[in-house]
Amino acid sequence: MTDVFTPEKRSAVMAKVKGRGTKPELQVRKALTVLGVRYRLNRKDLPGSPDVVMAGRRLAIFVHGCFWHGHDCARGSRVPKANRDYLLAKVARNKARDAAAEAALMALGWRVETIWECDLKDAEALRVRLEAMLQRPYPSPDLSPAGRGEEMVPLPRERLGEGAAR
Ligand SMILES: [Zn+2]
Repeated sequence: MTDVFTPEKRSAVMAKVKGRGTKPELQVRKALTVLGVRYRLNRKDLPGSPDVVMAGRRLAIFVHGCFWHGHDCARGSRVPKANRDYLLAKVARNKARDAAAEAALMALGWRVETIWECDLKDAEALRVRLEAMLQRPYPSPDLSPAGRGEEMVPLPRERLGEGAAR
């Protein structure tokens, strides 16, 4: 597929479409960088294309906007009157897709964490939570075929740059 956008324009478009590169996601990435963690973004070969991936830890993180992903919080339950049915249907689809992606990732031996937009209000709490995630032990080697030292790629159309050599 030809990419019709410049990289800048393309990421702006993606940010609109998927919430990619949005402020909440940047905030999480920044917090991880401060903790000295290396990660990859938007692994499209994984179910749901998680926002942040730490393959060695088999840890996938989604950063979700409270409204669009139907969080059970004040912000998430505020529904505009205009286009209400349309918006609610869209949120319901997103929630179903999120649940399916999480189940698929877990079936592949991944640990899945969701960070909500409203979790980001407290930077210190976020840091503590990320640290706790990072301190959890690496998954057991026999949890999945990936434990045998291979990157498990569900859609092996082409090997991505990363591969087994990480
Ligand atoms: Zn929320």
